[in-house]
Amino acid sequence: MSAQNVKPRILIIYTGGTIGMIENPDTHSLQPFDFTHLIDNVPKIKMLDYEIDNIQFNPPIDSSDMSPRHWVEIARHIEENFDRFDGFVVLHGTDTMAYTASALSFMLENLHKPVIITGSQLPIGEVRTDGEENLITALQVAAATDSTGEPIVQEVAILFENYLWRGNRATKMSADNFNAFKSNNYPPLARIGLDIHFNDEALWRVQAKRPLNVQYNLDPNVMIVDLNPGITEGILRHQLATPDIKGVVLKTFGSGNAPTAQWFTDAVREAVERGIVILNVTQCVNGGVHARLYAAGDQLASTGVVSGHDITSEAAITKMMYLFGLGLSVREVRRYLECSLCGEVTL
Ligand code: ASP
Repeated sequence: MSAQNVKPRILIIYTGGTIGMIENPDTHSLQPFDFTHLIDNVPKIKMLDYEIDNIQFNPPIDSSDMSPRHWVEIARHIEENFDRFDGFVVLHGTDTMAYTASALSFMLENLHKPVIITGSQLPIGEVRTDGEENLITALQVAAATDSTGEPIVQEVAILFENYLWRGNRATKMSADNFNAFKSNNYPPLARIGLDIHFNDEALWRVQAKRPLNVQYNLDPNVMIVDLNPGITEGILRHQLATPDIKGVVLKTFGSGNAPTAQWFTDAVREAVERGIVILNVTQCVNGGVHARLYAAGDQLASTGVVSGHDITSEAAITKMMYLFGLGLSVREVRRYLECSLCGEVTL
């Protein structure tokens, strides 16, 4: 908001998720329901005195059904309404929220307004719901400006219970806890208590303000391969031979280690030589890949896999979709994977 006495204008994009679900009387399972039901349960919204508009997915979905097609839909709504609103709140299921946040962070190039994603663990109609508080706080974060009138948050972020996290750094940590998200390798962008305390040093700032540019092409020919002790040559080779596959997020042990058996190294090297980009991402929730620390990591690094450093798997897989979607060469994709595009990795 730049001028005084002008109400913040916020667009809510409701995609579905627990926050707006109701119980199916026949099966007793939760299913997505429409936005009017959701908003009727948050009368306090009027106390904010914002200009709020909304767009809803038709039909709203459980976020387990989220796909690149839906990310394109969310991004399109943001682009089409970008100049009319000061900030955006995306209501989303928690299950794949971190994937959506990561994907949008790459797709919305030059973003300099808040895109705050939130949802809840309990439906908004439940007495002990966390949805009401999350929605209200997300709206406040989306409307927050500094003394010069500039938005405080200028990136895609996840607001959940007591914290605001960078979207491409966050992971769903709990299926039960109200504090469901965490960023294990990056500090919170804000702590939510009696007040909202923004962490200025952690917030993303674009170098030079340029017009929003949305990348709609996402290449789905990427996959996550999770290692386990006992993985066989047949299984690994089968996965790496998946038709049309261009990129693999290889989830390795500890600081980026993998079995040292010759067949393993050969299978990975041959895949790299076939032009598959393999990104080494640790299975650990905290810390990152230090490829040369152990012989087992060194041997894997010698096959030509790219280090994912401390990137999350959600950011890694969506970054690959984005980079291949740009039509870049294997060499360029490898190069950009080693760079931080919008704060997704510490180098
Ligand atoms: N299954 C739900 C979803 O992701 C879970 C939630 O919203 O918390 O849509």
